[in-house]
Amino acid sequence: TIGQSLARTAARFPDREALVDVPSGRRWTYRSLAADVDELARAFLALGVGKGDRVGIWSPNRPEWVLVQYATAAIGAIMVNINPAYRRHEVGFVLRQSGISVLVSALTHKGSDYREMVESVAGECPGLRTVVYLDDPSWTDLLARAADATAADLDARTATLTSDDPINIQYTSGTTGFPKGATLSHHNILNNGYFVGELISYTEHDRICVPVPFYHCFGMVMGNLAATTHGACIVIPAPSFEPAATLAAVAAERCTSLYGVPTMFIAELDLPDFADYDLSSLRTGIMAGSPCPVEVMKKVVDRMHMSEVSICYGMTETSPVSTQTRVDDDLDRRTGTVGRVLPFLEVKVVDPATGVTLRRGEPGELCTRGYSVMLGYWDEPEKTAEVLDSARWMHTGDLASMRSDGYVNIVGRIKDVIIRGGENVYPREIEEFLYRHPKIADVQVIGVPDEKYGEEVMACVILRDPADALTVDEVRAFCQGQLAHYKVPRYVRAVESFPMTISGKVRKVEMREWAVGELG
Ligand code: ATP
Ligand code: MG
Repeated sequence: TIGQSLARTAARFPDREALVDVPSGRRWTYRSLAADVDELARAFLALGVGKGDRVGIWSPNRPEWVLVQYATAAIGAIMVNINPAYRRHEVGFVLRQSGISVLVSALTHKGSDYREMVESVAGECPGLRTVVYLDDPSWTDLLARAADATAADLDARTATLTSDDPINIQYTSGTTGFPKGATLSHHNILNNGYFVGELISYTEHDRICVPVPFYHCFGMVMGNLAATTHGACIVIPAPSFEPAATLAAVAAERCTSLYGVPTMFIAELDLPDFADYDLSSLRTGIMAGSPCPVEVMKKVVDRMHMSEVSICYGMTETSPVSTQTRVDDDLDRRTGTVGRVLPFLEVKVVDPATGVTLRRGEPGELCTRGYSVMLGYWDEPEKTAEVLDSARWMHTGDLASMRSDGYVNIVGRIKDVIIRGGENVYPREIEEFLYRHPKIADVQVIGVPDEKYGEEVMACVILRDPADALTVDEVRAFCQGQLAHYKVPRYVRAVESFPMTISGKVRKVEMREWAVGELG
């Protein structure tokens, strides 16, 4: 279980640093982290939190998030990660859908008043018994309760836990629709965190800068669990992503590893004072979550000292990672693929219509099987049955092809494929091509309705210089002779930003709605 794993690491590396919160300057060794987790676990016991009870955590990144993660696991409660970007209505939905009885919440973040939102929905959530706010007397009151539960009480609870118990409900990012609550066990996420860490050779000497949200599996599994299974240290640069604070934390804390979704790395590389940050301590890191452009990967390797950077592919439902590049991969594999399958997992590419496994090189739906596949969606057996087949293959909804060396290319989401006049157009291919245009900083390609062809290709671009302009003719000339005619964008729109989920995924659904209005 996660509790046993943390105890083992604390016994091996008691004096090594485990957690650093840069904004507040607070630091934990493995000894003090284990002690604080133990205190909070006993406090939850004293509060009457039972095995399997749902405990919600609604907060941007801060050390208490990590304490709640390990303390709930220690007593077999099911932690529910709530998206810090949620508002009143969404938080009410999650509180009810997962039946949260105890909620730990931040007071405010970026001008939004979490307490006010919680109070306004509490009446509609009959299961909600206790709300504790960080930076508030209710948090210190909770900790004081630890005195009412003994080590023996905690041991008695520990004896009832098994590694297959559900430990976590993680909602998916909600990129393609309403988020679904993936129910995950100790076995699921602990092993996944461990193997992700193994494949980038983490040791007790690594210091991992985590600007990605803990609420998402990238932060809490690939960050926290990969670190604590290897004795590495988690560095929190800021409560939520800020490019300058991230690079400053890497430099000040001599981090060896840096995480991010592609847009985060793009923002860091684009900082006007980028060259002033000393990034020489970096060795590795992870880019994941959405398509990682080759050009961006190359810059990360060259300019950020991350010669061993890894690309991971996965989804919340699979704990999350199913494929990863290896530290000794050459640049072609490291930048051009999402790696190969993790140890003890299986992946295959099937024809989405027939389910037949395809030959290497042919694009189809990627499926994953093995220890990392979720128990199911919380309280939604029909939705679970749509994605998990009787042989327990998880159907990812992603289009991929497998190379002859077993490395996987992600083509895109099945839902994002543009069908123009009967031809399948994969936005990713056009995006990769347009990234090379000197005026373009970032680009997303979507399909928009068209009377003649069914759908047409639109490129939405963020320009390097916002004062600049980019005409559709310029883009078409750039593509001339380089892309098949049906892939060449019919429309180009310059935008300031893309609609994003907080986990860093572009909501193309929303972009398509916007584009339809835009085109009249
Ligand atoms: P929802 O399922 O609610 O619509 P979501 O699928 O974005 O949201 P997550 O589980 O956070 O929620 O994200 C998993 C998805 O992210 C994958 O299915 C895939 O489309 C995308 N993804 C993850 N890693 C990569 C990667 N390295 N390259 C390309 N796409 C990736
Ligand atoms: Mg999904």
